[in-house]
Amino acid sequence: MAENDDQQEQPEEKKNQPGEDPKVPVEVRTYFVRERNALLARAEFPQLYIDYYLHLMQHSIQHDDQSDSVLKDALAALTLHLASRPQDESTAWTISIREPLVNLFVAGNSRTQNIVGRLFEPEGKRDDVNLLSSQITSSQTDLRQSTIDFSEGDIFRGAEAYYKQSEQRPARYFQLGEEEFAMVTAQPDCDIEWLNELEDEDLVLIDKTETLSLLERRFYLFDCGCELKRILDLFSPYDKEALDGLFDEDVHLVIACPRCAARFQVSREQIDEHIGRAGK
Ligand SMILES: [Zn+2]
Repeated sequence: MAENDDQQEQPEEKKNQPGEDPKVPVEVRTYFVRERNALLARAEFPQLYIDYYLHLMQHSIQHDDQSDSVLKDALAALTLHLASRPQDESTAWTISIREPLVNLFVAGNSRTQNIVGRLFEPEGKRDDVNLLSSQITSSQTDLRQSTIDFSEGDIFRGAEAYYKQSEQRPARYFQLGEEEFAMVTAQPDCDIEWLNELEDEDLVLIDKTETLSLLERRFYLFDCGCELKRILDLFSPYDKEALDGLFDEDVHLVIACPRCAARFQVSREQIDEHIGRAGK
């Protein structure tokens, strides 16, 4: 019996490791809206939000309700944007909203199928302007950066303003349910009048009112991919003197991931051991 006990799995330990839990991806379906010449992307986001909340719990990150809701909208808006774009594009948005005062970062990639995001501390009052800075990279083109401003303190309106100003074609976002969203993007020869007049209710019924051709199904997880090892790797270039200076009298350093705000507490011993094990 004792032998059997020894061989038993230890699920409690495994569950505490980042990324060990099986995650269920959000599925985004894209359709071509025939005769209107538009691209429709839509998805339900509860699963992505569950993983997002597990991440917050795991790293003891707390958000106020309003900021939390804005970040969740940004995750949904970026996911639908990515699904409407070429597969190998990575996009990062840094968004500052004045009212409510929220600063956030979201990023994702269709090929690696991940979405990630975090809040930043608001840095005081700014002028009457909300900003969205976009960075797009792909294997085909150089880094493309642009910053646009928008008036309404709403992520979806901000993303629409981005399309109008940077992509120079209209796109609109719609809310179909509490955690279900859709995006319609103009394609060449789009029926712009139809697109401009669409309401949330029209999107709920669009399967019946329009002819849709399924183009693609893409899948995304809330997942940064950061882990203690990668954080420890950051210290590889540091020699003993530099590490002494870095730690001073501190026993631990807390390093926050710039993409997902995951907090990693690292000790001098962990770094020495890691660098030593890496053959340094
Ligand atoms: Zn991270």
